Amino acid sequence: MSALVHGAVLFGVDAALVSVEVDLLRRLPSVAIVGLPSPSVREAAERVRSAILASGMEFPRARVVISLAPADLRKEGTGFDLPMALAILAAAGRVDRDNVGRWLFAGELSLAGELRAIRGSLAITCAARDAGFRGVILPVANGPEAALVGGLEVRVAQTLREVIAFLDGAGHLPLGSAPDLREPHRGLDLAEVQGQTRARLALEVAAAGGHNMLLEGPPGCGKTMLAARLPGILPALTPGEALECTRIHSAAGLRSGGAGVVTQRPFRAPHHSASTAALLGTADLRPGEAALAHRGVLFLDEFPEFRRDAREALRAPLEDRSIVISRAGGRAVFPADFALIAAANPCPCGYLGHPTRACVCPASARQRYRAHLSGPIVDRIDLRVELEPVEGQALFSGVRGESSADVRARVESARSIQTARNGPGRTNAGVSADEVLGLADATAPAMRLLVEHVDRTGTSARVGRRILRVARTLADIDGATRVGASQVTAAIALRFDGEEALP
Ligand SMILES: [Zn+2]
Repeated sequence: MSALVHGAVLFGVDAALVSVEVDLLRRLPSVAIVGLPSPSVREAAERVRSAILASGMEFPRARVVISLAPADLRKEGTGFDLPMALAILAAAGRVDRDNVGRWLFAGELSLAGELRAIRGSLAITCAARDAGFRGVILPVANGPEAALVGGLEVRVAQTLREVIAFLDGAGHLPLGSAPDLREPHRGLDLAEVQGQTRARLALEVAAAGGHNMLLEGPPGCGKTMLAARLPGILPALTPGEALECTRIHSAAGLRSGGAGVVTQRPFRAPHHSASTAALLGTADLRPGEAALAHRGVLFLDEFPEFRRDAREALRAPLEDRSIVISRAGGRAVFPADFALIAAANPCPCGYLGHPTRACVCPASARQRYRAHLSGPIVDRIDLRVELEPVEGQALFSGVRGESSADVRARVESARSIQTARNGPGRTNAGVSADEVLGLADATAPAMRLLVEHVDRTGTSARVGRRILRVARTLADIDGATRVGASQVTAAIALRFDGEEALP
């Protein structure tokens, strides 16, 4: 007696079909799972046996051989519990074998037979649709994100018993319902931030032109507070982008917003002790912080304190907008198109140049700290802003600044100007160094000002092009066709290179 039931395994942010075949042999009762199961899949045997008994069914008195195919694909996670239970019941003739074959199943089982949420249900449902299944049957909590896929039936169940009744035609399973992906921004508002005029402008420019930004200033001057408000002034996620984000967050097992569906631009702020794997993705192909920040903001506070390998590893996503993780059995690609905000104190203790507090750092420590503010990552940062030391309270003085909604309106119009000029999806930060001169279309006085600045300060031509890029974004915010002298002046003011702060 044998039966075949379909399941799927998550591979990065994608899923691959797995067939679960069960043979019942007339031998001493036991359970064997073959086909590269991970320890978590091997442990399923006990959960499945208890869940079947708790559902009022008999567990076969036989040698139960569960074979997972393809055999060379490593099977991880708890999502095989449900297809294994059904394959055992189908082999024993307790569930209709033909009916069960039309569906793809995923879900963890509790010992009492309840279905528990799994990660990656969006990717699994996509795989089921692409393979032409009638539908998927999943735990209730996975319904909303799976229903976003469309093109197949998404049915949800609370217990194994409900699934068995449905397959026998004796019960009904409700359809998962998809939430609306278009949701207005909720969360932190720029209106709450007082002062920091230059930093507010820098934030708007970062949002409008897609520029990466470095914020420098003493502790408590509002770096985190400002960074956390960038998602709210970026254009709202399109439904397609929301789907991309949901797929990644689902594969990571994050269930933001209750339904597990991402409708707001992500804001990720990993601690500076984070490992390279935590930032880029783990060996078991879970997405890291850079992928979780896709379409949103990655904030690296105390950037010079990050491990060197972690800092350098971020170079790949900044260049390619994606991360590739290879391991035996294949490679996973995580999308990682995020806005980077790095933040740094003036020195390790934070008080260098502070009006009332003294810095206690040895000169060598200060130099080492500053040295970490160079290299491949900082080379990709267009905006470098020094914040004024402000007491935290003064930042929330009651007078409301301009709201995120008003700033976002300007950002959206500047972005549509860029799309028309640079091409779809290309912000000013994304144009090459060779293109920027032509796209900026700077007036003669503007060019003269820029050349004078570069000559006077001895900055490199590369920095000069960054200033021009930022000036281009300022002109787009102003609705100006050409970059003028005023925008170059403003762009220079947004580019603090920190040399003054050196001892
Ligand atoms: Zn110090």
